[in-house]
Amino acid sequence: MSDNPSTTFARLGVPERICRALEARGITQPFAIQAATITDALAGRDVCGRAPTGSGKTLAFGIPLVATVERSEPHYPRGLVLAPTRELAEQIHDELRSFAGPVRIGVVYGGVGYGPQVTALRKGVDVLVACPGRLEDLIGQGLVDLGAVDRVVIDEADRMADMGFLPVVRRLLEQTATDRQTVLFSATLDGDVAHLTRDHQRDPVRHDVGDETPDITAARHLFWKVDRTSRSGVLAEAIGMAWPAIVFCRTRHGSDRLARQLDKAGIRTAAIHGGRSQAQRTRALADFTGGRVHALVATDVAARGIHVDDVAAVFHFDPPEDHKAYIHRSGRTARAGRSGVVVSFVAPEGVKGARRMQREIGLDEPVHEPDAEMLLAAAPASVAEAYVPRRDEREDASHHRADPGRSRSRNRSRRNGGQVRGTGGNQSRNGKPRNGANQSRNGKPRNGANQSRNGKP
Ligand code: ADP
Ligand code: MG
Repeated sequence: MSDNPSTTFARLGVPERICRALEARGITQPFAIQAATITDALAGRDVCGRAPTGSGKTLAFGIPLVATVERSEPHYPRGLVLAPTRELAEQIHDELRSFAGPVRIGVVYGGVGYGPQVTALRKGVDVLVACPGRLEDLIGQGLVDLGAVDRVVIDEADRMADMGFLPVVRRLLEQTATDRQTVLFSATLDGDVAHLTRDHQRDPVRHDVGDETPDITAARHLFWKVDRTSRSGVLAEAIGMAWPAIVFCRTRHGSDRLARQLDKAGIRTAAIHGGRSQAQRTRALADFTGGRVHALVATDVAARGIHVDDVAAVFHFDPPEDHKAYIHRSGRTARAGRSGVVVSFVAPEGVKGARRMQREIGLDEPVHEPDAEMLLAAAPASVAEAYVPRRDEREDASHHRADPGRSRSRNRSRRNGGQVRGTGGNQSRNGKPRNGANQSRNGKPRNGANQSRNGKP
């Protein structure tokens, strides 16, 4: 892989006008995934790239696409980028336009009126960025035809799979030119994504960037001795101090029961497990990424497909199967350079086992009584300060959406904040301000009143 730090976009073969447009945005040095894939993509090869969030995948596929796409006729785009959410589609659209010059970039997604999208298609767009559902809808209305598309990008293929879009994606691909170029990017390349690659890419060059094994040292790991009878109460208190949270349960039944208990305690919760339909899982995930719930309760299998940044805390409510499961679960927080906290609930008879597991992964953490201060100190600052469920608020919590406006707002400036912005972010942003909104932003353990309220959970 050519992630030689001295590489320039020009040396990768990027046309000068694009280099200049990027430079104007302060982008001069290709990131690793860009250095690895741009030359191949410019040459027309299929590319299958795996790289973590924030690694620069948009330009990795966007530069070759804009550089090579041909001019289109009205209703017949030549380049197509498929993205799972409208926020992401918007982001891609904006990013491509920033250096596209005369290349016309359009975007279509659901949940908004057809007017502007139809007008753009009628005028002609060279590269169409689209969410699968709306695109299929527009095709059905005869407003777009994919027959001239000879360059396709599938972005965030893993999320596309998680959200149940792969059947639509496959149908769309089948309508494009058979000799097309297909570029696929994903944070993971196993399971359904591997099948998609196998069926719809031709001899792709594969590039991996970053380490697929989560780096658990980025998170703070706490081990709490909690007996079975007080577990759910302790958890509810703890989530109030560190959310959005993912909670791991061993069984489907246990997940459902726990979700109900948390809801009763004022923690808006969604459950995700193998006993739920794809539609239910998709909704639960959307509620979570959209900030409408504080906690996602999941079984190990169901959690495999969850790729959400800004998860403040992972709770091992039931112990993980083994140290590998611990690593896998714990990797759901402290992603993409952010901090996070991992809390294990250890039954009195499980202390020895927990210590043994710690040794296998190089942790050495005492197992002690639940400690709110340690949790608050370990939770990402802006998240921890954002929400202190007061009793009155808890009581009426069932009448309100979760309103994590504060903690989520910091996502907005991040590239991945788009995930949040549209699906629920707007509501939560305008929802009633939290009591935490005026608190100091230092993320230190709370002042008197709140502290005592949250004392030992
Ligand atoms: P990904 O899709 O891999 O999660 P993005 O493509 O959204 O990541 O890029 C993350 C951020 O990095 C964006 O704000 C983007 O503009 C910026 N970026 C991408 N490539 C470069 C680069 N070569 N130099 C500087 N900034 C870059
Ligand atoms: Mg991206």
